[in-house]
Amino acid sequence: MKLSRIDHLGIAVKSIDEVLPYFENTLGLKCYAVEEVADQKVKTAFLKVGEVKLELLEPTSPESTIAKFLENGGRGVHHVAFAVEDGVANALAECDAQGLRLIDKAPRAGAENMMIAFLHPKCTAGILTELCEPALH
Ligand code: ZN
Repeated sequence: MKLSRIDHLGIAVKSIDEVLPYFENTLGLKCYAVEEVADQKVKTAFLKVGEVKLELLEPTSPESTIAKFLENGGRGVHHVAFAVEDGVANALAECDAQGLRLIDKAPRAGAENMMIAFLHPKCTAGILTELCEPALH
C-alpha cells in the first residue's frame, strides 16, 4: 500500500465542550467542523495543525467503542489515521493477504466525507490504525 501522510489523530474525550478551550485557547487551534457519525455513535470535532487534523471523539451512546475505551481507562490518543493513496479497499486486501486482523472487511463511510477502515491493534504494533481516503462523489 502507499501511505501519503498522517490524515488525523483520533482523540477520545468524555466531552468535546470540556476540552475544546484547551485546544482553542491554549494551543491556539480552531475547531472548523463538528459532525455526528451515527453508525459509530460518536460526535466528532475537527481541528487542524498544519496538514494533520485532530479528531476529537465524544461518545453519544454507552455502546460506542469510544465509551468502552474511556470506561476501560483509555484516555487521549485513540487511533492514528493514515491517508492511503491507492485505495482503502486495496490496502485492506493486502493486509488480509498478509494475515492481519481487520476490524472492517470493507471501507465504510466516516466523518469528513472519507471512506475509512480500521485494522486491529493486535496486528499493528498496538496502535489502533485507520486507513482513509476521500469518498468518491
Ligand atoms: Zn478517525
